[in-house]
Amino acid sequence: MSPRGEAVNVQGARDRLTRFAWPGPLVSTLDRLAAGGHQAWLVGGTVRDVLLGRTPGGAFDVATDLAPERVIERFARVEPIGLVHGTVLVLEDGLEIECTTFRREAAYRDARHPDSVEFTRDLDEDLARRDLTVNAMAFDPRSGDWRDPYHGLADLEAGVLRAVGDPLARFREDGLRPLRVARFTATLEMEAEPETRAALAGARDRSALVAPERVRGELERLLGAREPSRGFELLHEAGLLDLWLPELEAAFGVPQNRFHAYDVYTHSLRTCDAAPADKPRVRWAALLHDLGKPATRVVRDGDGTFYGHENVGAELADARLAALRLPNDERNAIVHLVRHHMFDYRSTWSDAALRRWLRRVTLDAVADLFDLRLADVVGNGTRFGFPHQLEEMRMRIEALLAADHALSVADLAIDGADVMRFLRIGPGPRVGEALSALLEDVLDHPEWNERATLLERLAERRANAPEAPPTP
Ligand code: ATP
Ligand code: MG
Repeated sequence: MSPRGEAVNVQGARDRLTRFAWPGPLVSTLDRLAAGGHQAWLVGGTVRDVLLGRTPGGAFDVATDLAPERVIERFARVEPIGLVHGTVLVLEDGLEIECTTFRREAAYRDARHPDSVEFTRDLDEDLARRDLTVNAMAFDPRSGDWRDPYHGLADLEAGVLRAVGDPLARFREDGLRPLRVARFTATLEMEAEPETRAALAGARDRSALVAPERVRGELERLLGAREPSRGFELLHEAGLLDLWLPELEAAFGVPQNRFHAYDVYTHSLRTCDAAPADKPRVRWAALLHDLGKPATRVVRDGDGTFYGHENVGAELADARLAALRLPNDERNAIVHLVRHHMFDYRSTWSDAALRRWLRRVTLDAVADLFDLRLADVVGNGTRFGFPHQLEEMRMRIEALLAADHALSVADLAIDGADVMRFLRIGPGPRVGEALSALLEDVLDHPEWNERATLLERLAERRANAPEAPPTP
């Protein structure tokens, strides 16, 4: 029995942890940390996920009483990823093992960085500074020893997220923790217990100060959940969503039109849930794709319209993702999806129109745009716009690609050097202009993409063009 009265199967849990096929390099890392009378335990998500019957994701979490400098000395390949917190990433045989020295909670006066770190030799003190009871269990696979001073197993079995200690105090120590609760609500599909839930908003001023990189890390993990909406809903209900995604919060209650069952906010969450969980870009784009709707909403004939919302949304998404410090290439790819999510394919599109669309969105983005569109349709919550058109579009694109027609300047049968030689010009904007003009011709007439024909077209252009000054 746990102190809260649930029957807890401790033996079953230990059996599950003991039987788990822990990788050899992980166990030998524990051995090496423990050499000379030290302690080394599996902790955090590693223990939790195995108890849930999941494969632990990301790095293995290890806690030890060995000082960080000593940890570094004992391994050939390490990265001091969070040395101020006593965390060293050990790389052994392709495994990533996050080794954190036992420590007590240190105050984060500026809510960003701990003022000081106090190490300890006591595992229970280390478990006390962890955020949630389900994350505060420890297991040693070499001895089978098990520690669960905060009854995380009972909470895990009951599907409950509970702060270790006083929730408000814990959230005020580190304003990221409310966001972690939202993340775990979605990834673990558990519910915050009432006191933990009630305390979420109480650290708002602290949460507002958390470094954007940490926020991004949690949002990315939240977006990998089966239904990220669970986490976003919790943040919205706690009045915290506007801290990190103000444009999404602003979409709350914004009505749409007869094609939609939901307001813009709910539609965004449903679309995000419907996007593939293993495609983070599509998940982000799905979440953000309609951010431009609140600002572009105009009522015509009694129904909402949102002309140009994809461009306004792309700008808003760009700024938000920059503020969250997403790497530039990720941000650009997501913004590109938002900007192009409104394509309105019809059977009447000519092949040239389809080729022009492909050139505009680029081949790399086509699969993601299709995923986004399908999710968008599901997210509408109505039966309007069933995507049989999309299936036809997909088949036509495949046929076009099989024909291997030019879609970009690089696919043309001549290149910039040919243009310069033929037009007797040097490098400069005119070269690109000539190639772009040829591509326009070829998009309409794929059969013109031959060297001789393209040079003929160039000759015509030269004859028709006003005399350009000779380049030196
Ligand atoms: P994941 O499966 O995503 O790795 P995790 O729970 O292991 O989830 P990590 O960020 O790897 O999360 O952290 C490892 C452990 O460190 C957590 O389980 C928790 O015990 C502790 N921890 C991490 N971040 C915090 C925090 N902000 N406050 C308190 N404890 C934390
Ligand atoms: Mg972890």
